[in-house]
Amino acid sequence: MSYLANNYNRRKISFKSGKGSFLYSSKGIKYLDFIQGIAVNSLGHSNPYLNKALSYQSKKVWHVSNAFEIPEGEKLAKRLSKNSFAQHVIFQNSGAEATEVAIKVARKYFYTKKKFDKNRILCIKNSFHGRTLAAIHASGSKKMTEGFGPKIPGFDHFIFGNHESLKKSITKKTAAVMVEPIMGEGGVKVIPKWCLKGLRKICDEKNILLICDEVQSGVGRSGKLFAFEHSGIRPDIVPIAKGIGGGFPLGAVLMNKKVSIGMTPGSHGSTFGGNPLAMSIGNAVLDKVLKKNFLKGVQKISNYFLRELKKIKKEYPELIKEVRGVGLLIGIQLYEDQTKFIQNLEKNRLLVTKAAENVIRILPPLNVKKSEVDLSIKIIKKVCKQYK
Ligand SMILES: *Cc1c(COP(=O)(O)O)cnc(C)c1O
Repeated sequence: MSYLANNYNRRKISFKSGKGSFLYSSKGIKYLDFIQGIAVNSLGHSNPYLNKALSYQSKKVWHVSNAFEIPEGEKLAKRLSKNSFAQHVIFQNSGAEATEVAIKVARKYFYTKKKFDKNRILCIKNSFHGRTLAAIHASGSKKMTEGFGPKIPGFDHFIFGNHESLKKSITKKTAAVMVEPIMGEGGVKVIPKWCLKGLRKICDEKNILLICDEVQSGVGRSGKLFAFEHSGIRPDIVPIAKGIGGGFPLGAVLMNKKVSIGMTPGSHGSTFGGNPLAMSIGNAVLDKVLKKNFLKGVQKISNYFLRELKKIKKEYPELIKEVRGVGLLIGIQLYEDQTKFIQNLEKNRLLVTKAAENVIRILPPLNVKKSEVDLSIKIIKKVCKQYK
């Protein structure tokens, strides 16, 4: 029996070490890891540069309270801002915390403006914003909220891709629209550029804030630093998390100057959020991701990967419904349940994960090598052959 609660459906593998794109199981099997902790290990396992940053900072100071200045955090906040739309950042430890703070910032902004009724958050039905009480109700998913009542008020929902549903859901009380530019858990569904542009326009017209949840799509995953850049818009608030810590728990909320006015001393806090150890690692991740040509490299390998996967789709039109994604957030949608297919990939030493709507989600590290992509293609082809 396990002393861990049963809230995860765990695969029966454990790992003793990892290096770059590979994981080594306790039974000595080498796996090509295209999950990377679900888009967390942006620079792969045991990255020497991150190891060095962690080790260096661990010998100086791990943690001090936010009652003091934290220069490593000042530096990271400045770099995130200078490379985006933002002027201010609040650090947290996880994605759900970051999306909750995004909601707090939006509500407090309108409160400060004395628009006391403007506090509702409009989200896509069955999106994913984390597992805290507010975040599950933001997602509007029956599966995630069932049994966790009473319902947290203040959230409305519209249907993905349905303009009428969006228009109908907006009221005078809508404070913010929160969307994932690329819905990760939801099945690697990409909001088209013109839709995000249109959404920005509607928000501007109706004095509504736009929150782009980039917990999964941010920090280079899409081939740009942030996925919203693909559509040329500027959101007001952007929560990030997964990729920014490279495997260390770290979340952040980026915001523009206008909306930050409500976040006065005492309005929000976090014991661990933004401690020197986390900040140093975040800075080390950015050292690599912001390096000249790094993101171009992500785009290049992404184009290659998608092209190869689309070739496989052509060969197996009855098995594969669609290949889609942006950057290295890639989905293969099957016509049937994908569980068995993923198990077969695992038997062939390739680790990938699920997303909604029969999607196989592929999340290599951002510095993945072409030879590793080729290896994954070979394995995927081999598994496809079993379905002929
Ligand atoms: C993973 C994820 C979250 C939640 O992050 P946690 O660190 O698990 O709390 C929120 N939003 C999106 C888009 C995510 O992919």
